Amino acid sequence: MGDIKKIGVLTSGGDAPGMNAAVRSVVRSSVYNEIECFGIYKGYHGLINGIIKKLDARSVNNIINKGGTILKTARCKDFREKSGREKAYNNIKSHGIDCLVVIGGDGSFTGAMIFSNEYDIPVIGIPGTIDNDILGTKYTIGYDTALNTVVESIDKIRDTAISHNRLFFVEVMGRDAGHIALNAGIGAGAEEILIPEENMGLDRLLESLKNSQKSGKSSSIVVVAEGDKTGKNVFEIASYVENNMPEYEVRVSVLGHMQRGGAPSCFDRVLASRMGVYAVENLLKGKNNVMVGIENDKLILSPLEQAVKGQTEVNKNLIRVSEILSI
Ligand code: ADP
Repeated sequence: MGDIKKIGVLTSGGDAPGMNAAVRSVVRSSVYNEIECFGIYKGYHGLINGIIKKLDARSVNNIINKGGTILKTARCKDFREKSGREKAYNNIKSHGIDCLVVIGGDGSFTGAMIFSNEYDIPVIGIPGTIDNDILGTKYTIGYDTALNTVVESIDKIRDTAISHNRLFFVEVMGRDAGHIALNAGIGAGAEEILIPEENMGLDRLLESLKNSQKSGKSSSIVVVAEGDKTGKNVFEIASYVENNMPEYEVRVSVLGHMQRGGAPSCFDRVLASRMGVYAVENLLKGKNNVMVGIENDKLILSPLEQAVKGQTEVNKNLIRVSEILSI
């Protein structure tokens, strides 16, 4: 403590609802602790190109309720190069910034870790991604909002499915992780949930849908994570089922980027607010190369190295719950 006078904060990688609440929290906690806070715009691109602005408590008025990120975000190839990171370091030095809070996903944390090790700049990561796939935290910022968006969307699709006796395949986000599909699928009462962690196989899917039909269901929702491993995309899965169950009218709905947007849920706002305060407090305590996480409602720190290596597993018990409840 005592060495840190200026904190830099940036958002990087994919945007997630609640990032603004985290930025607000980092800025205001800095001011509260009489530390200057600098916003770095467009993630590492802004660090390399010196798009850096001092923020005060009033700079973050009225953003807790906003999706996206006022700091903007970007994917920045140059930061992967030593020459890019050198420019970033020079900009940090010229602004007198002592340490960084990086709000993003595992890619952003990899960059942060490399940078911190090269230039001895303390960094703390705050996990902001809708995918909830980062090791070291039960929840990432944006995940809860995305779940609610997906459930709300599927509820609406269900109205059409019921009215027309249709079978809907709904693709949700989650490249390598089925957290959104599994949880939102159960929340929306989906018939089947296809996730990357479990290869259900098309034949089992077909058998299950036929059984449901026999048991009296005349419409159904199948939730498919975008990274599902049946080896087919959602359109191919849908046409396979349609060919084998011609009595059903099959439709596909890809929810896409709407899942990333919108006002953050109360859960994400509170999570982001808590994580921001904790990140600043721990930077002031001299912590470095760690990520803020939450387990059993307690904030914790874990090495960034761990966060970038693995991803949290889906709760396999939920698969069983879904199977039981979709009879
Ligand atoms: P996310 O943080 O959401 O996982 P990305 O994987 O796109 O998003 O990473 C965000 C940014 O982090 C990249 O555009 C790049 O600037 C930086 N980054 C990712 N991996 C590395 C790396 N190996 N070395 C340096 N920077 C990296």
